[in-house]
Amino acid sequence: MFDIFAKATPAPRDYAACSGCSLCLLVCPVWRKTRDLRYTPHGRAKALQHGVAAADLKDSIDSCTLCGACVPACPENIDLVAMTLDLRRQLPPVRPLAIGTRGVKKIADYSRQSVLLAGAALREHDAARRAAMQLLGCAPVLDDGDDIALALEAGAQISAARQEEFLLPLRTAAQLIVADALLAQQLGRWLPQMQISNLGMALSRRADLRRQLRNDDLYVIEPRAYHADYEARVRYYDDLRHATGCAMNLDLQRIAIPATARSLSQRLGLKTPDDAEQTHWLLQGRKIARIVVEDAGDIAAFRQISTLPVVHLAELPND
Ligand code: SF4
Ligand code: SF4
Repeated sequence: MFDIFAKATPAPRDYAACSGCSLCLLVCPVWRKTRDLRYTPHGRAKALQHGVAAADLKDSIDSCTLCGACVPACPENIDLVAMTLDLRRQLPPVRPLAIGTRGVKKIADYSRQSVLLAGAALREHDAARRAAMQLLGCAPVLDDGDDIALALEAGAQISAARQEEFLLPLRTAAQLIVADALLAQQLGRWLPQMQISNLGMALSRRADLRRQLRNDDLYVIEPRAYHADYEARVRYYDDLRHATGCAMNLDLQRIAIPATARSLSQRLGLKTPDDAEQTHWLLQGRKIARIVVEDAGDIAAFRQISTLPVVHLAELPND
């Protein structure tokens, strides 16, 4: 059973429905940084309405962080993340992006176990990864599917052989807990009977972790999972906020402001990330004593610009 990312009705629309209202600009980190309409959902949708090809929008398509903030903001219910991914699929494959089978000889056995697909950022913070595994009772996983997560981000092809190699050991697991929101969504399509949870929610549901949250914490929600299931998440995080008193990276419309705003090229390591402006924006005017993040990828960005302690949610019991 797929318990997250259920799409709200009515069915999402495509770029043809864009009215040019510009509401998506208010929440888009790329607009905030560039103030250039060409790098916004509004700009891309209007260009497509006028018959422009994906190749002409290459830089704009690259710039989108897939944070998803524009999706709940759009009054025309356009799936603007799907629009960007569809455009990426129309462009030539990005290099370097190696998605080949690994020739694994022995198939791992996760029968009836919980499996954590931690992803590269959480693996880099090994203490947090181990803490998450212990708290959630997860088996160590041999294949996190990092290449598949990157391919999804880039709109690149994933061969049937690689897909099957990745999925085969996961099919018998009791549940999957997934750090990367795009990968979680795709796993929901590939394994519709599987119970799949997002890491941030799986951890923040725990009473022992909630007790550690303080009213001078800034709790940083991972925006992709949040916006993909916006209505349910607003209610969930409202409850968490009321129960703990901590501040969150939400704007007045309760859209999550991403802590990092990385283009596809930056995520693929082809360009250097520049997160300082985004993280400064998030901390501006706040009186907080600690930063607690759901996404391990945010840790380095906050540490670069702040002397406040930054901890991953999984590390709270030991903090
Ligand atoms: S997904 Fe995020 S970065 Fe991309 S257009 Fe929407 S708000 Fe902007
Ligand atoms: S919010 Fe939606 S309808 Fe309005 S400009 Fe952006 S994409 Fe178009």
